[in-house]
Amino acid sequence: MPDDPSSDRIAGEEFDVVVIGSGVVGCAMARRFTLEGARVLVLEKAADILDGASKGNSAILHTGFDAEPGSLEQHCIQAGYEEYLQVKDELNLPVLESGALVVAWNAAEAEMLGGIVDKARANSVRDVQHLSSAQLLVKEPGLSKKAFAAVEVPREFVIDPWTTPYTYLLQAIENGATVKRDTAVIDADFAAGLWQIETNRGKITARTVINCAGLYGDLLEQKLLGQSAFEIRPRKGQFLVFDKSASRLIDSIILPVPNEITKGIVVCRTIFGNLLVGPTAEEQQSRDDASVDANTLQALHNKGVEIIPELANHSVTATYAGIRPATEFKDYCIQPYAEQNYISVGGIRSTGLTAALGIASHVFRLYQAMGNSHNQIDNFVVPDVLPLAESLERNWSKPGNGGIVCHCELVTRHEIEQALSGPLAANSLAGLKRRTRATMGRCQGFYCSAELSEMCANRLQIPLSEPLT
Ligand SMILES: Cc1cc2nc3c(=O)[nH]c(=O)nc-3n(C[C@H](O)[C@H](O)[C@H](O)COP(=O)(O)OP(=O)(O)OC[C@H]3O[C@@H](n4cnc5c(N)ncnc54)[C@H](O)[C@@H]3O)c2cc1C
Repeated sequence: MPDDPSSDRIAGEEFDVVVIGSGVVGCAMARRFTLEGARVLVLEKAADILDGASKGNSAILHTGFDAEPGSLEQHCIQAGYEEYLQVKDELNLPVLESGALVVAWNAAEAEMLGGIVDKARANSVRDVQHLSSAQLLVKEPGLSKKAFAAVEVPREFVIDPWTTPYTYLLQAIENGATVKRDTAVIDADFAAGLWQIETNRGKITARTVINCAGLYGDLLEQKLLGQSAFEIRPRKGQFLVFDKSASRLIDSIILPVPNEITKGIVVCRTIFGNLLVGPTAEEQQSRDDASVDANTLQALHNKGVEIIPELANHSVTATYAGIRPATEFKDYCIQPYAEQNYISVGGIRSTGLTAALGIASHVFRLYQAMGNSHNQIDNFVVPDVLPLAESLERNWSKPGNGGIVCHCELVTRHEIEQALSGPLAANSLAGLKRRTRATMGRCQGFYCSAELSEMCANRLQIPLSEPLT
């Protein structure tokens, strides 16, 4: 059942740090600050975590080869990338070591490849190399013969977009952090070194506030500081998910030559064994409208077939969209306000899944520079999260799993029970899907919905009868 944020347990307490928002950035932030010894409270306005920008992305673990050299984004991407590879085995997080190819489709684009190599090297990504069209087609025979040339980026990988932040936050909780969902920050006052935070569930006291509110970061900042140093300009990205049969058509992540606005339409395998085509880059007013439309999906389909002709013979299993918290600036907007014990973490636009661990370490250093210190946890707890990636041993292959409920994605009763219990239990079907992949396969829940509904009865804050997001 939902957290009980009105409980007296947090009402009278004074937290070192309140993290507002549990997207991937807030989850990584909570983990870092908790492991460093701070008393952390995470406040999330939605019924469940990962309900904003972090619910729909491409899940690429970027090397930062194409980031702006010397930018904060480049620094955080590379620090995040390194830390992810360091902690992945301990946290049982997967990596699909696909590598990427930046493909030029005409002579003009081929001319730009030299600049991409130079930029990668300036960003210390030195293992990039040019491939001729012949080399390219040997490496990726499924690619259209129209491919002109490419740059290979061997260490661009694919990860799990949801288990990753979920595991970060669970690790924070298991080491002492508190998370309150369904708790929106409405206003706050800072006086005598303390924040009094008003939520829809009562008042909370904390010494430092870290704004990780993603698509609502600027509005929150206006409330808390009276003004915001950035303005969120939502940018939607729609995706097509092809059936698992399509994933054998390519190994690498296929990237276009990027432009100023977007990295462009990507074709890549997912960690769950599907094949993804997307995202678009559509400016919009709404911070919440993650709907898809038939014309755009058709255009994505055409693009996918143009890049990999054989895709025309594979079916689409699902569609989705995510919204980037873009701003008027290209770089991240991370800013400490020492006199107000406040750190703003805004505009984590299109690389936040990779950069989250790096952002969290960067912000912790800013927090230390504001005069704060804690005693690091020596023997921290490592959460036990069941992996969903194809490459890791799934629960269905082990005894005592209670049987398979979702046959398309091989989700067991044990996995669903685990996702519905514990300190970060799913509060909605969307949350359950992100924790288990139940209903996300070929039949989209046609066969397992009845059993799921029986298992979830009276256990979700948002009942199964409400529309999915
Ligand atoms: C189409 C697309 C493709 C992408 N591809 C990649 C990729 O391949 N690789 C990569 O590394 N990154 C990628 N990203 C980027 C990544 O997904 C984002 O950078 C990241 O999700 C931003 O996370 P966040 O935590 O800053 O924001 P969010 O996920 O939006 O989290 C903010 C949270 O704050 C909560 N909140 C807001 N206001 C309040 C309030 N007042 N009180 C309490 N809670 C509040 C919200 O409910 C939300 O849960 C992609 C993004 C998109 C959209």
